[in-house]
Amino acid sequence: MNGFSSSRDAIQARMHQAAQKVGRGLEDIRLMAVTKTQLPEAIEDALLAGQRLFGENRVQEAASKFPDLWDKYPDIELHLIGPLQTNKVRQAVALFDVIQTLDRPKLAEALAKEKQKQGRCPCLFIEVNIGQEPQKAGLPPEAVEAFLTRCRGEWRLPITGLMAIPPEGRDATPYFREMKALTQRLGLAELSMGMSGDFEAAIAHGSTMVRIGTALFGARKKT
Ligand SMILES: *Cc1c(COP(=O)(O)O)cnc(C)c1O
Repeated sequence: MNGFSSSRDAIQARMHQAAQKVGRGLEDIRLMAVTKTQLPEAIEDALLAGQRLFGENRVQEAASKFPDLWDKYPDIELHLIGPLQTNKVRQAVALFDVIQTLDRPKLAEALAKEKQKQGRCPCLFIEVNIGQEPQKAGLPPEAVEAFLTRCRGEWRLPITGLMAIPPEGRDATPYFREMKALTQRLGLAELSMGMSGDFEAAIAHGSTMVRIGTALFGARKKT
């Protein structure tokens, strides 16, 4: 047992309880380890404990840490959960299994181009600015359906889910609820929501993937 695996056991127990309360099973909810700012040694501990699903915020940081780990653990699944600039799309398409932060037509166009060039494409989640916060990335909820239609029709992109980060310092429940309704209405399979402070509420409202950093690795250094 390393430190990571005891933290993960504790989180999984809480996930299990939260799921049971609403009649869900843990097999429907994946636990992502968010490794932004973590050193490769911390990621190795997670890998030794059997963790394979990881999230990073920055393309550059992921590119500097993960390729070496892939040599040893080819079944790592890596998701981008931070903003993606169009000039990093080539690298991101080559690197990530899933990009969770698709939020604008320009980015969809760039992804479609790279998909053609590289003959591969990560699965994509649309990021929703569920709290309608001006400083935050993501599409306003009312724009998601039309954007999804364009992504599939015009750009032939594989959209499989939605992702959201509710406003800080407020009860997240109404936002989670709205995200669940939107995901169901659009017939999408994946709903990425819930972090260290609110994953139980996210699970109660239909999250299929919680993204956990500090509760697994401890507090991050400020970057
Ligand atoms: C950092 C981050 C997380 C993890 O946050 P914690 O509070 O440390 O669990 C989840 N999602 C996104 C998009 C993040 O940037």
